Amino acid sequence: MEWTRSDTIALANNCCVQCHGIGLHLGRGGRLNPCNCVLRAVFRACLSRFRHCATKEKHMSRVSLEFIPGRERNLTWGRKDEEYMADFILVSRRHLEDGEYRIFKYHFLLGADWKLCCRQLKIDRGNFFHAVYRIQQKLGRVFRELEPYSLFPLDEYFHGPSRLTPRKPVRPAEVIGLPAEVFNRFNRLSWARSA
Ligand SMILES: [Zn+2]
Repeated sequence: MEWTRSDTIALANNCCVQCHGIGLHLGRGGRLNPCNCVLRAVFRACLSRFRHCATKEKHMSRVSLEFIPGRERNLTWGRKDEEYMADFILVSRRHLEDGEYRIFKYHFLLGADWKLCCRQLKIDRGNFFHAVYRIQQKLGRVFRELEPYSLFPLDEYFHGPSRLTPRKPVRPAEVIGLPAEVFNRFNRLSWARSA
């Protein structure tokens, strides 16, 4: 995906020395890349929603009717909170290396602090925090760029796209309430008369 200022401006850190609050920097070939402060903000927002879903009272989880985009325009029932938690963990598992996933699991999912993680994983403090930043940036980008349905923006994940999809074109026969074959015959006749 192409990152634009409207994707990043609200997420960027005003004090960031790399992007100065814009959230973008120029990469190779003049391409705009999201700043690491934006990627970490995306990750934090997704993690916070995961914790909210995981800790809220179970009777508050609701079944909701969802619209499936596509030609058929079907509706289906789903449990969004549970789907989101499963997606959050599965996507992270798929995109992190084994060592990174262990840190992700202990620190972000199970809530172990840096001292416990360093002792259990036998790494020093510097390497631990480097890995934490790397995980946040890697997953922040994946959560936003995931195709066809990204985890972020969260409101689009939970409530569907906010942009209106183009309406199905209406055929002229439907406008005047005629069956298509009658309309086409009539249309051919009027063309023959005018020729
Ligand atoms: Zn920045």
